[in-house]
Amino acid sequence: MSATERIPEPRSARPLSLLGADRAALSAWMAAAGEAPFHARQVLAWVHQRGIVDCDGMTDLSRSLRARLAEAAVVTRLPLLARERDVDGTEKWLFEVDAQNGVEAVVIPDEERRTLCLSTQAGCVLHCAFCATGAQGFSRNLSSAEIVAQLWQVWHAGLFRAPLRPIHNVVFMGMGEPLANYAALSPVLHLLTDDCAYGFSKWRVTVSTAGLVPVIDRLAAEHDVALAISLHAARDELRDRLVPINRVHPLDALLGAMRRYASRHPDREVLVEYVMLDGVNDTPADARELVRRLAGIPVKVNLIPFNPFPGSGFARSPVAVIEDFQRRLIDSGIRTLIRRPRGEAIAAACGQLAGRVANRLPERQRFAMAGVPA
Ligand code: SAH
Repeated sequence: MSATERIPEPRSARPLSLLGADRAALSAWMAAAGEAPFHARQVLAWVHQRGIVDCDGMTDLSRSLRARLAEAAVVTRLPLLARERDVDGTEKWLFEVDAQNGVEAVVIPDEERRTLCLSTQAGCVLHCAFCATGAQGFSRNLSSAEIVAQLWQVWHAGLFRAPLRPIHNVVFMGMGEPLANYAALSPVLHLLTDDCAYGFSKWRVTVSTAGLVPVIDRLAAEHDVALAISLHAARDELRDRLVPINRVHPLDALLGAMRRYASRHPDREVLVEYVMLDGVNDTPADARELVRRLAGIPVKVNLIPFNPFPGSGFARSPVAVIEDFQRRLIDSGIRTLIRRPRGEAIAAACGQLAGRVANRLPERQRFAMAGVPA
């Protein structure tokens, strides 16, 4: 090499979130780096299927691409603060997302299959009256990488050897309102259903929402996943109190969004979640009203026995009342299951997830953010 010749400086690569980037984002990064976009698929397989985030180990990529990736890659790892196991096999994993906040993910085994319940926010602004997460207030949205990291860390913890899948279903029923964090949720849904990444079938990913109507329409247009609606009441006056976002998007609007979702995805039923609160929403009249409001919408209903937490002010409906409510729905032609509480002994059941949240919202502001008058 002559004294005047210089080795060209590599263009400095843009930062890249290895866990949070979906195929489109990785392809765009490749294109910006002057690399072929198809390398995105190789990177997805390394990261999500083989659990390799050290770019030097991605041996089917050229040396120079590995070096550039290594320079740009940001890998989000969440310290595991606690891992608890219930006698029923349910496991709760508490992940630190920053110095002030921790979020929980729950692994729920059922015979040969395992469902993973993921959190999307540290806390929640919606403040549903019967939910432990809502009672804590809100700190912040999680990034796509922080949502995927919960799954990635459980998936690659070595619990099961290939070819056994560690996780069979993913439900967004942990801390937070997934549709209030849609920008971060959307790439995660792509990764879950991408065959180059986790390859879940469209039947095995469920997004649960308290009813952010405009975002339900966006989800319907942009993704094909199962939709669960936290209905909990069939009258506006009651739902306004239990699920305050109802004051912004009342039942008529929400039921309309469910109809549109079902007609956009004609092969699907919308899952209706209905928490059974003793003496609050569990009477025969409530069942009749629910049947009336759901008429003509393809739904299946899950009755969720209320899971208590300190200071909630609610009690679980007696078993006989829940079964009578179920019978009335079934007799009216609505497929209805009672959700078996799982992980109660470790406060991992629906609505019991509290994690660790540094609430940044005073009461008034919390309601304002939910669009609810204080
Ligand atoms: N924000 C989303 C995900 C929340 S958690 C949503 O509202 O759908 C998943 C389900 O648990 C929701 O249906 C929620 O209303 C329900 N839930 C909340 N607190 C509960 C409790 N204490 N007992 C039983 N179910 C509860």
